[in-house]
Amino acid sequence: MIAMTKDNIVLNAEPSGKLQAIEQVGELLVRNGYIRPEYIDSMKRREEVANTYLGNGISIPHGLPENRDHILKTGVAILQVPGGVTWNPGEIVNLVVGIAAKSDEHIEILTNLTHVLDDENTVRRLTATDDPSDIVRALSGEAGATRRPGPELDVADFDHSVDVTVMNPHGLHARPATFFLDIAKLFDSTIVVEFDGRSGNGKSLASLLKLGVGSGRIIRIHAKGDDAMQALNALKDAVDAGLGEIEEEKETPKAAHGWTPSEVKRTIPGCTASPGLASGPIRQFTHRRIVVEAMAKDPEHELTELGHAVAAAKSNLRMLYNEVRSRSGEPQAAIFRAHEAFLEDPELLAETKSRIRGGNSAGYAWRQVIDDRVRAMEQHDDEVLAARAMDLRDVGRRVLRHLAGVLQDEPFTSSEPVILVAEDLTPSDTALLDPALILGFCTSGGGPTSHSAIIARSLDIPAIVAAGPAVLEIEDGTMAILDGDGGNLYLEPSPADIETAAEARKRIEAERDAEYRTRYEPALTLDGERVEVAANIGKASEAERAVEGGGEGVGLLRTEFLFLGRETPPDEDEQYRSYRAMIEALNGLPLIIRTLDIGGDKAVPYLDLPAEDNPFLGERGIRLCLNRPELFLTQLRAIYRASRHGPLRIMFPMIATLDELAAGKRLAEKARIEVGAEPVDIGIMVEVPSVAVMAREFAKEVAFFSVGTNDLTQYVMAMDRVHPTLAAQADSLHPAVLRMIDQVVRASDEAGIWTGVCGGLAGEPLGAVILAGLGVKELSMVIPSIAPVKARIRSITMAQAREIARQALACADNNQVRALKLP
Ligand code: PEP
Ligand code: MG
Repeated sequence: MIAMTKDNIVLNAEPSGKLQAIEQVGELLVRNGYIRPEYIDSMKRREEVANTYLGNGISIPHGLPENRDHILKTGVAILQVPGGVTWNPGEIVNLVVGIAAKSDEHIEILTNLTHVLDDENTVRRLTATDDPSDIVRALSGEAGATRRPGPELDVADFDHSVDVTVMNPHGLHARPATFFLDIAKLFDSTIVVEFDGRSGNGKSLASLLKLGVGSGRIIRIHAKGDDAMQALNALKDAVDAGLGEIEEEKETPKAAHGWTPSEVKRTIPGCTASPGLASGPIRQFTHRRIVVEAMAKDPEHELTELGHAVAAAKSNLRMLYNEVRSRSGEPQAAIFRAHEAFLEDPELLAETKSRIRGGNSAGYAWRQVIDDRVRAMEQHDDEVLAARAMDLRDVGRRVLRHLAGVLQDEPFTSSEPVILVAEDLTPSDTALLDPALILGFCTSGGGPTSHSAIIARSLDIPAIVAAGPAVLEIEDGTMAILDGDGGNLYLEPSPADIETAAEARKRIEAERDAEYRTRYEPALTLDGERVEVAANIGKASEAERAVEGGGEGVGLLRTEFLFLGRETPPDEDEQYRSYRAMIEALNGLPLIIRTLDIGGDKAVPYLDLPAEDNPFLGERGIRLCLNRPELFLTQLRAIYRASRHGPLRIMFPMIATLDELAAGKRLAEKARIEVGAEPVDIGIMVEVPSVAVMAREFAKEVAFFSVGTNDLTQYVMAMDRVHPTLAAQADSLHPAVLRMIDQVVRASDEAGIWTGVCGGLAGEPLGAVILAGLGVKELSMVIPSIAPVKARIRSITMAQAREIARQALACADNNQVRALKLP
């Protein structure tokens, strides 16, 4: 029970407006020792995001939840304004009830207030009284204002009801109650909420507040009408989910840079794709629609037009390739070479020509053929194929522009730097983005492994993906802050937030520079334990970059990149030369070569892979290699030949059974004997849950484990790793995945072998610390993550890492793990 005294009340106030009224009631709260002065500012800011007008001449200003630290004790203060103050247009307030709520004790005051609210005569009396005791009595429940009547609404003939516990830390106060009634109003049924012998209309704020439901209390929701059951289910789910409050906390986890906004109009969560913070106006990225006629009279003319369009597109691509290569380097430009290859695809051209001969215009025929292909590719869920579908669409548009007589899409121009929003961005879109004009980008679709995400990371532009269609509705010019680490787009932030985000950005840049300067120092914890930090690479040229970036070797060479985008597989000599070049570039640092991880879902036409219903669960990785011993043996021979030139290990991907491992080892031994090489260590990727579960048995058969958290997560959670809507939940920091890794590390320790991690989790600062704490000896990651991860490991003791790993294993979900604080 809150003590109300005359000291809490000021009569006959004459504030000039709402803000001054809040200041005056705030000062009263300060004078009475309820709040620190800083809370007043928070009360003002609250008004920008919520309406605290309760009705009948009463308002209840209070601060933002995140500023509750400024509340010293729970209490209320009241400003009587007989002349009235305009709260919002049309809403005149005579009693300003400032609330400082540390816990839910203020609910009782709110309850009393709502009884007053119901009673116009009492409000009129309290507005005019010159005796503060009148107000004290009314709000303390004396003077008969606080009745506890029996149920006011008869629910005897209501057919359905449900009991549910209100878990909101401050009970059913104004905000959650508003959330409740917003849902109730979606249904036609009459909704009554019963609590503690009283009942209230579930569609009336005053009625709900009047019930005075505190935290942890059970309410009974009754419904009558055709959609009664649906209403009850929706309301129960909403109460269980925290009536908007708990959700809000979930949506704003602290990102690695420690910045969170204090006040924004709206938060759109997505998936982190490229780290960093950006603030600026939103700009929607739209393509111009290309219109083509369906039919044409002269097929010969159309065929000539097609030839010209393809040639012109090729020439555009070559220019693009040269431009991007000189600006960003060969790896970023290579995609345009691949696009050129599409234009040489004989089937694509033959199909288009056949449609033209059938009467279609060149543009229409081309579009149909491209659309069919894109659709077929999109049906496969594999990331490589999905990225290629995007590429094909991009190439398709490029040719179409020439056929439609439109030479170019409007080039993206802007007079000021913007945050770009798009459905998805094609490789041409992203590669031509000028980092000086693009502060960050956010896509509604795509996944963290999509092409645009990868380019964003290499250009160092903060980005989030899979944010859903809501982002496409944002108006151009809306101010926003994009948090690439936290994966959130914050709309209409306050000036203070823009300022703090800019400060955080400066801090991040300075930290990154400092980390980069120490990239060659080992990752030694403060208590002297070493974690090896290596690079994931896909081609020979990256080996040198890995060393430059501070890598202590290569923990994962994805050899499939040598096999993609060509007509025939690389032969033994070509592979040998590539592996040898990498070994030489590494100059004595170790190289782990993963044998081919390709499957029925990947675009390797020359392998004639059968179509799969579930490509990720089909013939991929080691399964494919064991079924194609010649392909496998060729690679193994090349690897063993290269092993003479420096330290090298072999790793099999996608192992699920001991039999597969035994068969793989047999073939490796055969290849080794054929080329007369010395034995090398053989290890396996831990990507399939069966291996994690049986890690003890596997540990006896291998020299090391390397956990592929990307695949392990999708298989443990049964969530596609590139799924646009599930990607955010398929989080490798889920305790289910971490417990699997823990099991693997324990088994490897028992057997005296080591466990590394080469999936994306190893490159996340929190992930790296937890993995080190679990006993993982080697972390392998994309090159730009090496310096920050090494620095992070150097900043903690192994004892601290173990403690955080212990806490992570005990968490209930990935959000709880992400909320853990790094020392
Ligand atoms: C993994 O699955 O975590 C992994 C490293 O392999 P890839 O991403 O190549 O499937
Ligand atoms: Mg994998």
